[in-house]
Amino acid sequence: MRRTVFNEDHEAFRATLRDFIEKEVVPVHREWEQVGHPPRDFYRRLGDLGVLGIEVPQEFGGAGETSYKYQAVVTEELTRAGVSFGSYSVHANLILPYLMAYATQEQKKRWLPGFARGDIMTAIAMTEPSTGSDLANISTRATLSEDGRHYVVNGAKTFITGGVLADLILVVVRTTPFDPGDRRAGLSILCVETASEGFAVGRKLDKIGLKTTDTAELSFSDVKVPAENLLGQEGKAFSYLSHNLAQERLAIALGSAAAAEAALRHAIAYVKDRT
Ligand SMILES: Cc1cc2nc3c(=O)[nH]c(=O)nc-3n(C[C@H](O)[C@H](O)[C@H](O)COP(=O)(O)OP(=O)(O)OC[C@H]3O[C@@H](n4cnc5c(N)ncnc54)[C@H](O)[C@@H]3O)c2cc1C
Repeated sequence: MRRTVFNEDHEAFRATLRDFIEKEVVPVHREWEQVGHPPRDFYRRLGDLGVLGIEVPQEFGGAGETSYKYQAVVTEELTRAGVSFGSYSVHANLILPYLMAYATQEQKKRWLPGFARGDIMTAIAMTEPSTGSDLANISTRATLSEDGRHYVVNGAKTFITGGVLADLILVVVRTTPFDPGDRRAGLSILCVETASEGFAVGRKLDKIGLKTTDTAELSFSDVKVPAENLLGQEGKAFSYLSHNLAQERLAIALGSAAAAEAALRHAIAYVKDRT
């Protein structure tokens, strides 16, 4: 089937990326799998190449693309080659939409240039040891200080992609006590800098697949988070999380379609070669 969805610019980008992946990722990918993630500097390399800033507005150092198609090319080419850029996908496909939709201009100024350069790698922490699908059950607590200047965060998260190397983590926290009458109320997103005192990365989890994405346990013990690191409005996290699911699902669908195509290609090559 001939596709008409991509234009010449997308295809030129695809050719450059394919070459980069073949030369700079395929030869070292096995080592990354053993370590559990790419070297930290690799993300800066992606930043130099412009891959992390495709959809970051130009005023914050990105290319300002508004279409998802370039990200789609990245997903297709990674899957085609059977490799990954570590936690790139969460950083660029998942986190950026949150920052674009809910960050203030001041927050964008603070975080997006580093985001695009690969100096600030990001992750999102929703899941907890006893809370998976049912996010309304989140118990990591954030209490606003009396002077309103910072939150104090206590709790634990698990299965967090990019958790080992992240510099900034969007942490879903409970800012008001659980209300059985409105299970979706009371959750907020705080952007926690991982250099903060009281923040710790626990185990890096061993997985049967996705070996180059660092999946981690995180803990928060009286972590002070400045009030200006609240993303969007207090209490609105549940609706923010639901809203962004559409693009997350699109990214998964794209990766799955590209994986099916790659599997078919490998199978055809194999049966033609085998006697
Ligand atoms: C590789 C990997 C990376 C991840 N990265 C992140 C990340 O970056 N950030 C993050 O926050 N989380 C991350 N997660 C966690 C992921 O979001 C959770 O695994 C997911 O939300 C499911 O939660 P759970 O594993 O606790 O399963 P559970 O919620 O315990 O579900 C177990 C099973 O029960 C089913 N089930 C649950 N509730 C119901 C119900 N009410 N009715 C019927 N069936 C039900 C589910 O469909 C599932 O089949 C990651 C997980 C993995 C495996």
